[in-house]
Amino acid sequence: MNIAVIGSGYVGLVAGACFAELGHEVVLVDNDPLKYAALARGECPIHEEHLPELLARHRGKRLAFSDCLPAAVRASRAVFIAVGTPPTHNGEADLTYVESVARAIAGAVDDYKIIVAKSTVPVYTSDWVRRVMILNGAPGDRFDVASNPEFLREGTAVTDFLYPDRIVIGANTPACSNILQEIYQPLLDGSYYQRQDAIPNPRCTAMPPPVIVTSTKSAEVIKYASNAFLAMKISFINAVATICESVGANVDDVRDGIGTDTRIGKRFLYPGIGYGGSCFPKDLSAYRAVAHECGYDFRLLEEVMHINDNQRQRFLQKVRKALWTLKGKRVGVLGLAFKGGTDDVRESPALAIIESLVAEGCEIQAYDPAANERAREILGTRNIRYVDSAYAAAENADALLVLTEWEEFKSVDFARVRELLRYPIMIDGRNLFDPETMREHGFMYLSVGRPDVSFKEVKTRKATAAD
Ligand code: NAD
Repeated sequence: MNIAVIGSGYVGLVAGACFAELGHEVVLVDNDPLKYAALARGECPIHEEHLPELLARHRGKRLAFSDCLPAAVRASRAVFIAVGTPPTHNGEADLTYVESVARAIAGAVDDYKIIVAKSTVPVYTSDWVRRVMILNGAPGDRFDVASNPEFLREGTAVTDFLYPDRIVIGANTPACSNILQEIYQPLLDGSYYQRQDAIPNPRCTAMPPPVIVTSTKSAEVIKYASNAFLAMKISFINAVATICESVGANVDDVRDGIGTDTRIGKRFLYPGIGYGGSCFPKDLSAYRAVAHECGYDFRLLEEVMHINDNQRQRFLQKVRKALWTLKGKRVGVLGLAFKGGTDDVRESPALAIIESLVAEGCEIQAYDPAANERAREILGTRNIRYVDSAYAAAENADALLVLTEWEEFKSVDFARVRELLRYPIMIDGRNLFDPETMREHGFMYLSVGRPDVSFKEVKTRKATAAD
């Protein structure tokens, strides 16, 4: 099928590359000249596993890039809208980009097409897109508007797309629903999973995903409700971790104890410095705004957000507890991205924590395997050095903080890190390491919801000339 994807960001680029992987002819459109030029040159503008491989496989064959929306729309049966929906000042979703794309698509509708909202949007957006298109001259019988929310996670976006838990199709006519099912057919009938060259499934078993066909409104609600529920799980375990810290319990054991209940499950029950990223914070605010507009005061969401903000403050208190005064202290930081596996730093808790530490007079030396450049664009370089390894971040630092859960950090040489640090103090905001291992290596180790490995139990290294 001929498909246009409008917006080549984290979602659009992955969706476009995966549609090509499923056998479709895809045109990816973006109006950012720098991004378009990078894609046209053969670059992959974001850090995402398997994406460079898919782009190389399909670019110039089933995958083209364009900055001309009308031509891409005219050539396509299905047009996916994957532009950003950032928050407005009062927390609602800003639908300006969606509206302007809908207007632009309207002028190019000649034969029957489906217009599919892949962006995360509030309920009624599909109705608005339809209305805007008709007002801008699109014949009402030549198109349908659908909602096909995306559940991929950055860092595992390609495999999440190709091996989804479910595919949600919000369509108000059978013709529209059938086209969307045809697009996903290689996943729905499992034929993609039989291919020799299929991107391997990280979970090993490849089961065709269920398809949930529903109205556009239900599909729109499903996406916000899913993100709100996941954020709620994170805030719940963070609140439990706070209790564990107060009473001397261990949140790892508590997580095992509650997560083995199949009604609860262990996934998304990891305590830490809170969620961030381009989705949860804005989607929760937007969902609360939608509820408010409907006359419902969704206070549960307020509390989820409140607990999340509080986690950062609690982490900063741990840093103060370990270092006493902060002015003039050199702090090593592992991780800048909002989560491991991505270079995305939007709403990253790591950046917020670094900003607070710099404001209190710390000097930061930070390392992220993929996000140094993007963090530099936001944080600048005043009192922050961006270094190229975990060891360089640790060198002569008064403490080392873990702020993003990269796999790479799990295999650091603890003896070397300890030797490089001015004091063997590690404050782990992601519970990446095992407290017993840290004790054995002689670290003072503070994490989230687990007993501290305290200072009196560790030996500091001898002072050197560098100190
Ligand atoms: P993004 O900012 O990375 O990408 C959006 C892209 O759209 C940009 O490249 C921008 O240049 C382009 N764009 C904007 N206006 C355009 C126009 N008129 N014509 C052509 N291109 C245009 O955003 P993203 O992270 O990919 O998110 C897109 C949507 O998907 C959002 O609604 C988001 O909530 C949702 N979503 C994101 C994720 C995620 O993990 N990032 C997951 C699921 C859903």
